[in-house]
Amino acid sequence: MSTNSPAEKSAPDASFVVPCFNEQEAIPVFYAELLRVVEPMKISFEIVFVDDGSGDGTLAKMRELAAKDSRVHYVSFSRNFGKEAALLAGMETARGNVVATMDEDLQDPPSVFPDCWRAVSEEGFDCAATRRVTRKGEPPIRSFFSRKFYSVMAKISDAHIVDGARDYRVMRREMVDAILKLRERNRFSKGIFSWVGFKTKWFEFENVERAAGETKWSFGKLLLYSFSGIVAFSTVPLQISSFAGIIFAAGSLIGIVVTILLKLLGHSMVWGWPTLVCLILFVSGVQLLCIGVLG
Ligand code: UDP
Ligand code: MG
Repeated sequence: MSTNSPAEKSAPDASFVVPCFNEQEAIPVFYAELLRVVEPMKISFEIVFVDDGSGDGTLAKMRELAAKDSRVHYVSFSRNFGKEAALLAGMETARGNVVATMDEDLQDPPSVFPDCWRAVSEEGFDCAATRRVTRKGEPPIRSFFSRKFYSVMAKISDAHIVDGARDYRVMRREMVDAILKLRERNRFSKGIFSWVGFKTKWFEFENVERAAGETKWSFGKLLLYSFSGIVAFSTVPLQISSFAGIIFAAGSLIGIVVTILLKLLGHSMVWGWPTLVCLILFVSGVQLLCIGVLG
């Protein structure tokens, strides 16, 4: 990981953490829009771009901006580690008293930022969170599975994850530090943001289409990501394992009793295999139960 961040400067009011993966077209558009919104607010700020191992001119664009604007910093990964790793590295680098995390394609509109800023700087909230209330412009199949994911999560998860919640958050330093203390490997930020608690105000907006470039999330990548969310924030998969173990072990005990009875009654069948099946079922059932307990 390389960075141009000068750690010794005094902390700005706000840091914008922006993960970027092959976003050379979107970077200048994002930068211009962010400045348009933030400069009139008269706050000191920095932008921390995180280049998530892009293969295009993304890093060159970041360097260009950093050379002409001292408020721009960047972190560059040696390969693509994924948006979650990029968010973490960006939040670690950010020095602001308030940290905002947002996508780079303007799907997390900077125009919502002034309201979020007011919530954390004047209204006493620790965090401003955002959710999109529509999904127009998104492929229907993707919307369908996203909604299913949120409804499953609502039922089985310890962390309350709001439908349509974005990773677009504006957080006070205390909350950022709490998040950075969690050294989760398979990170699922939406869950972590909610899990750490803190007083949060929600803002809603309509879905916005990408400003430039195209989505970096394939269906398969999203599926794996949702799986890590479920595993990280719910014990239900472990309970299923324990439960299945109990069913298997109990079923095999019944099988053993039935086998012995049939043998005693002199039933004619091929002996040997029922005992084997029952033993295998019993041992695997106990193993599943132990895995659940260990988990
Ligand atoms: N992103 C990233 N690493 C990845 C995939 C995405 O840093 O491996 C960034 C991407 O550059 C963008 C944000 O994460 O700023 C959201 O990605 P994208 O817009 O492709 O996702 P979508 O909005 O389609 O869900
Ligand atoms: Mg996007």
